[in-house]
Amino acid sequence: QTRLTMPLLGLMRMALDVQTSKALFARIFEYLDLVPAIRDAPDARPVDDARLGEVEFDEVVFRYPDAEDDAVPTLDRVSFHVEPGQYVAFVGPSGAGKTTIAYLAARLYEVSGGAVRFAGDDVREIRHDSLVDAVGTVSQESYLFHASIADNLRYAKPGASDAELEAVCRRANIHETIASFPEGYATIVGERGYRLSGGEKQRIAIARVLLKDPAVLVLDEATSALDTLSERHVQRALDAASHGRTVLSIAHRLSTVRHADTIHVLDRGRIVESGTHEELIERGGLYATLHAEQHVEQELAVDGEEADHVE
Ligand code: ATP
Repeated sequence: QTRLTMPLLGLMRMALDVQTSKALFARIFEYLDLVPAIRDAPDARPVDDARLGEVEFDEVVFRYPDAEDDAVPTLDRVSFHVEPGQYVAFVGPSGAGKTTIAYLAARLYEVSGGAVRFAGDDVREIRHDSLVDAVGTVSQESYLFHASIADNLRYAKPGASDAELEAVCRRANIHETIASFPEGYATIVGERGYRLSGGEKQRIAIARVLLKDPAVLVLDEATSALDTLSERHVQRALDAASHGRTVLSIAHRLSTVRHADTIHVLDRGRIVESGTHEELIERGGLYATLHAEQHVEQELAVDGEEADHVE
């Protein structure tokens, strides 16, 4: 059973009613931080500091609340264990359940069976404020409020000094850009604000997560729909943000997961194989097939570009 309070449920329903539900959903997911939605169990504890960054899914079964009782579960006995500081990626065909894993890791929903554990404790026994501190997300649709860049950053850490803001923006590879705006960090962004490119928005979102400094970072394919140069900037910022923390990377393309410590391959809600890129290629299973398909697509895209040049 989900235990989310009315405002959030309302937002979620609204999001689901809209055609572009996924993008909106991602925004809410990123901003769940701001919604004190889940009431703590009376004996809830903070995340255990000694094992901060350790994440475990133990036989997790999950059905979306609006699914039929006898429907095939969206996640079916999904188990994996992530050590602090590891980079773990989830790949698989569209609809396999990758994003759902990200939602459960951030406790946007409650599991239908099994358990999600942080630092050895079931998330249902962890104080929500502590969990919120422990998990940061960068999603494909980074959301900026109609407010100054400085205020957008300070949502992650009220009271952060200007020097701190600048330091994280340098690491996220966005300081120079902000400094070049006439109003600098006071520039108003977001709906009806200064128009930033997708890549700039993402780098500000990454700076924000750096300021928050969570033990666990959930990346929901932050480099989609960007041109190559912008993508490279964002990738560098993400590398900086990934350093020294646990990363759960939800990858819709395979190019970004090659260096993951472990890649879990999902198919119809189940983990069908796990390993490093080399191991999975060697194995010749679903990952190898997806990899080969993507390779063909890239070649076709390159051929297409060359054809354009000839014209
Ligand atoms: P993609 O690569 O296309 O983003 P994915 O692997 O991330 O796919 P999920 O978004 O986790 O897949 O979706 C898994 C399944 O759950 C899909 O069948 C999807 O239609 C369904 N689903 C996703 N979100 C919801 C929701 N809010 N309510 C009901 N069903 C949902």
